Amino acid sequence: MYTLIIDKSINATKKFRANYHIHTSMSDGFSEPVDYVEKAVEAGLTEIGFTDHLVILDDASVGLGSLDVNEIDSYIETIEDVRKSSEKVIVKCGLEVDYTPGGVKYVEEILNSYKDCLDYTLMGVHIIDGFHFDTPESVSTWRSLSQNEIDKLYRRYYELVLEGVETGIFTVVAHLDIVKKFGFKPSEEPLKLVESILESVKTLDMAVEISSAGLRHPAQELYPSSKIVDMLAFLQVPVTMATDAHKPEDVSAGLDLIAMLIKLKKLPLAIPANGLKILNPLEVL
Ligand SMILES: [Zn+2]
Ligand SMILES: [Zn+2]
Repeated sequence: MYTLIIDKSINATKKFRANYHIHTSMSDGFSEPVDYVEKAVEAGLTEIGFTDHLVILDDASVGLGSLDVNEIDSYIETIEDVRKSSEKVIVKCGLEVDYTPGGVKYVEEILNSYKDCLDYTLMGVHIIDGFHFDTPESVSTWRSLSQNEIDKLYRRYYELVLEGVETGIFTVVAHLDIVKKFGFKPSEEPLKLVESILESVKTLDMAVEISSAGLRHPAQELYPSSKIVDMLAFLQVPVTMATDAHKPEDVSAGLDLIAMLIKLKKLPLAIPANGLKILNPLEVL
């Protein structure tokens, strides 16, 4: 059992609070970048990063809710303008990119051509062999699955995450266990597979995000779960802070809880800055 010790000297200074996972109306979010900046300043955040979706499907076409490939330039310009005019919070520009086995070659080309303009990329898996498992429409399919089928989906999900990580073209793994979003659980979590993912993340100098988004869905827990957070701590895998905000009200949702967890577990804190800069959580949070 851990005991939380409140250090008053740390409380006295402004604490580092960041959210590196935000969607605007340029992809599937509901507001303009400036609205998020305004809320972030109100909440006293130190840094935010925009990560609108880039979804390239297996047949290399662009998925729903994604920026079109020819919109990436204007997306980057828009965020750059916001960055320049934002004095009270540091603004970074990223993308949340889907890993799909058939789309990854095209994704790699795209990311190569934008590598000087993007501060980082999140890698997300939202589709398992054609099944868009995190959409509201997927719930009826989830309900119809047998336990054995759910177990297979979990394994396949983590296999895809591992493949995506091993491409080496992304910076941060988004919502590592989002497959649990609607609360359908496997008979046994494939933790050996998760461990392989975390080892690859570490070898490739990537990070895993700790996201409050799962708290707003039926899973009712952070992404990733406390079991996986313990593995992150054991392996000393760097983590970023995230809320996966689709509206300005969520720009700081759960960040204090995430900061407390990162401090408690002494997880190395990652900041996208020309690769990842790693901070000691005990000094900044
Ligand atoms: Zn996502
Ligand atoms: Zn997202």
